[in-house]
Amino acid sequence: MSAVPRLKLAVLACMDARISVYGLLGLQKGDAHVIRNAGGAVTDDAIRSLSVSQHLLGTREIVLIHHDDCGMRKFTDTEFARRLETQTGIRPGWAAETFTDPVRDVRQCIARLRASPFLPHTNVVRGYVLSERTGELAEVP
Ligand code: ZN
Repeated sequence: MSAVPRLKLAVLACMDARISVYGLLGLQKGDAHVIRNAGGAVTDDAIRSLSVSQHLLGTREIVLIHHDDCGMRKFTDTEFARRLETQTGIRPGWAAETFTDPVRDVRQCIARLRASPFLPHTNVVRGYVLSERTGELAEVP
């Protein structure tokens, strides 16, 4: 099996343990890169992985998956930074990337991807919000 994803697709999704990206999108082993982090945020590290995916492994499309019942909506960047500072004495140099509105956050993530000089293929970027209530995956227009 080739290491090049069959569908030339990279997925960036929230790490929420209840979400199976493969099940949700009907993907099989070998189809896509699946990158996951808290919230499915477009961080520098997500861009690092997407850069390798596009430059070295031939992916051409990006799918973002956020969800309604995301834990990243339940606190703020400031609260989390304070908590870490209180417990460790060190304030993190990164933001937790919390958000309130998942649709707005998907739009912001798409804009961040398109603004990255390291990603040559951002014509086909689709963002979705999963509703836990209905099980529906809605594309963000
Ligand atoms: Zn989440």
